[in-house]
Amino acid sequence: MIIGVLVEVASKSVDRIFDYLVPSALCGFIKKGIRVEVPFGRQTLEGFVLEIKDSSTSAKDLKEIIRIVDQDIVLNEELLELGKKIQKITLAPLISCYQVMLPKALKAKNGSVVNKKVVSYYRLNSIDLSSFSFLPKQLEIIQLCQKEKEVSKKRLTQISASSLHTLVKKNILLEVKKEEYRRNYQEPIRECKQLTLEQQKVVDQVRSFPSFSVSLLYGVTGSGKTEVYMELIDGALKQGKNSIMLVPEISLTPQMVERFQRRFGDQIAAIHSALSEGEKYDEWRRIARGEAKIVIGARSAIFAPFDQIGMIIIDEEHSDSYKQSDPSPRYQAKDVAIMRAKRHQCPVVLGSATPSLESMARALKGVYHFLSLPHRVNGRELPNVQIIDMNQEVKKTPYHITTTLLNEIQYCIEQGEQVILFLNRRGFSTFVTCKNCSNTIKCPNRDITLTYHKSNHMLRCHYCGYATPLPKVCPNCKEESLSDLGVGTEKIEEELSVLLPYAKVLRMDVDTTSRKGAHKKMIDAFRSHEYDILLGTQIVAKGLDFENVTLVGVINADTSLNIPDFRSSENTFSLLSQVAGRSGRSKKEGKVMIQTFNPDHYAIQYTKTHNYLGFYQKEMEIRKQLKYPPYYYLCSLRISGRDSSYVEKEASKIYRSLERNLPHMILLGPSPNIIFKMNRIYRYGIIIKYKQLENLPEILEKILQHYKSDHRIKVDVDFNPSHF
Ligand code: ADP
Repeated sequence: MIIGVLVEVASKSVDRIFDYLVPSALCGFIKKGIRVEVPFGRQTLEGFVLEIKDSSTSAKDLKEIIRIVDQDIVLNEELLELGKKIQKITLAPLISCYQVMLPKALKAKNGSVVNKKVVSYYRLNSIDLSSFSFLPKQLEIIQLCQKEKEVSKKRLTQISASSLHTLVKKNILLEVKKEEYRRNYQEPIRECKQLTLEQQKVVDQVRSFPSFSVSLLYGVTGSGKTEVYMELIDGALKQGKNSIMLVPEISLTPQMVERFQRRFGDQIAAIHSALSEGEKYDEWRRIARGEAKIVIGARSAIFAPFDQIGMIIIDEEHSDSYKQSDPSPRYQAKDVAIMRAKRHQCPVVLGSATPSLESMARALKGVYHFLSLPHRVNGRELPNVQIIDMNQEVKKTPYHITTTLLNEIQYCIEQGEQVILFLNRRGFSTFVTCKNCSNTIKCPNRDITLTYHKSNHMLRCHYCGYATPLPKVCPNCKEESLSDLGVGTEKIEEELSVLLPYAKVLRMDVDTTSRKGAHKKMIDAFRSHEYDILLGTQIVAKGLDFENVTLVGVINADTSLNIPDFRSSENTFSLLSQVAGRSGRSKKEGKVMIQTFNPDHYAIQYTKTHNYLGFYQKEMEIRKQLKYPPYYYLCSLRISGRDSSYVEKEASKIYRSLERNLPHMILLGPSPNIIFKMNRIYRYGIIIKYKQLENLPEILEKILQHYKSDHRIKVDVDFNPSHF
C-alpha cells in the first residue's frame, strides 16, 4: 500500500504530498485523515494521510512510514476538502490550513505533549469472598463497590488508602482506567424564554429559506438576538443536527456561555483562549465524539469537527476578530462558515447591531437575506446619548473625568444604580515621554513605543514582550523629566478614588482578568451589586447584560478615530454603539455620556442618534469616493527581510510585475510599513485594489513560488485584510 502524506512543516518549499510505503502489518489501520510518522531527509516528521493508492509516480525506492500516530481520524473528509479550499483562497501552505483546524495538542512537536487525562476506578473481582475476613474499612469499600459497580480511586482512598491497597493486592478489587475530561461543569437551573412576536418572525423567516442560506440579522442592542440564536439552534438540535456559534473572543463572556447552558445544559462545548491546552483538547474530543452538540467559540471554532451541522451563527459579525491576520492561513471565519454551510446545506446567520459595511451592502443587494429586530425587548427605548465637548471641558478640570460626567455618575450611584466606564484603548498606549527633550522611549528591537505599566513600573513592548524597568532619567538627555502621557484604567481608577472616594470601583482589563475564573467572578460580583462602577477597556464594551446599569460613560471616544486606517470611523461608530448598548437594558431608563474632542465627527453624531443606517449611507459615500471596500476588494502584500536595500529592490520588482500583469487593478506602494523595523526585519507593503479577482491568485502564487527558496525575502499575502 502506498500513501500520500502531507508533512507538518509550514513552508511553501515542502508544501506538497510525499509518497510512502506502508508495512503490511499496518495496512489495516490506514485511513485518510489520520496522522503518521515518516522519515523525512534526516528527520522524522508527523504528517496527515491525504491519499491512499496502489502505485506512485514519484521515486521508485519509497521509504516506509515509521508508525501510526493516532488510530482515530483527526481530519474527516469534509475538513480535508475544506483545507484545500482555504489554501486556494488564502495562498497559504496547505499544511497550515489543516493545522489551524486542530487544537494545539494535536499539532506535531508542539513541545508540551498534552495527554488524555486518565483516572483509576476499581470494581470487584468475581471471586468468592466468603473465604476472606475483612476489617471494617475494607468491608466499607467492598460494600460501596457492590452498590456502585465502579468507584473512583479518589473516593476509595478517602475511606482508607491502606485498605484499598490491601484489597487490590489480594486481587479482590480490579483497577479500571477511565478517560476523563478536564472540565468544570455544574448543571444550572434550566430556562427557556417565550419569544416576542418580532423574535419569532425572524426565526420563522430563517426556517422558511431554502436549506442553505446566508442572512444578516440587524438587531439593535438588547433586541434579543441571543434568544433568537438559541431558538434557531434548538430547531437544529431537534432535527438531530449540531450547531456552531462564533463570538468575538472578547465577548465570549461567561454570561453568554451561562445563558446557553441554562437552555441546553451539558450539550455545550465552549472553546476560548482562557482554557488550558488540555481543556481545549478535551472539548475538541467531546465534539468529535458527538458528545457535545453545540459549540460556542472564537474564530477557530468554525472548524469544529461535527459530522452534521444544522445551524451556523456568527454573533457581532462586524468584529475584526473573525479575520486571522497572522500567522497564515489569513482566513475570514465568515467565508469558512459559508463554505461549511453549503456543504451541510444549512443556514448561516450573521448578527450585529452595527453590521459591517460589507455585509450590509450584500444584504441590501439581496446577496444575503436581510432580517431585522428594530426594537429592544419589551419596547424599552435605546438610551439617551449626550456628547461632552472636551475642547471646552479640559479647561475646567485637571482630571480625565469631566465635571459633567462626574455629576451624572454621582447621581446614578445615589439612586442605587450602577455605572460602566469605558476607556477606549483601541490603537492606544500609555507611553512615556521626556518633558525636556520630547524623546519617547521605544523598543530597541523595533520602531514601537513602549507601553508603561504602572503597577510594576515597567515599560513593555506589546509586540515582542521586551520589558525594562522605567528609567529614572531620560535615556536621551539624561534629565529627570520623564512623564507618563495618555491614560490607562489604573489612572482613571486613581482619579475615581480622589473624586468619588466612597464609590466601589471594579477595574476589569487584561491585567485583572488574566487569572483563570477571574473574569466570571468579577461579572458575578458586579451583578450582585458589590460594586458601583465597572471600569474597563474593550472587555466591558460588548455582550454584557446587567439590568441595574443605567449610565455608560466613555472617557475618550477619539483614540480609535485617530488610527490611520480607512475603517477607523466604522470601528469607532460600532464600538461606541456597542458600549452605549450596555445601558438601560432592563426596566430603568439608560443614559450614555461620551467625552470627545471631535463632537461634530459623523461617527460620533450618528452614535448619538443611534442612526446605523445614516452612518452606513455616509460612510458608503466616502468609501465609494476613495475606492475602498465594499466598492473595491483589497489584497495586501508584505515583503520583508533583514537587508533593507534588497527588500526595497525586490518590493519594487514585485510591484512592476503586478503592474504589467494586472492592468485593471489599482496598486499602492511599495511603501515602508508603519511598523517598519520589527525584530530587525524591514517590511514593505503593496496594496492591490480590485473589483474582479481575475487572475490575481495565479499571479501571486507565481510570485510566492519565485521567492520560496530565497531565504532573504519573505512574501506574505493577505486577502481582505482587517486593517493596514
Ligand atoms: P442582544 O443579544 O440583542 O443584545 P439579548 O438577547 O441579550 O439582546 O436580550 C436582551 C435582554 O432581554 C436579556 O436580558 C434577555 O434575557 C432579555 N430577553 C430577550 N428576549 C426575551 C424574551 N423573549 N422574553 C423576555 N426577555 C427577553
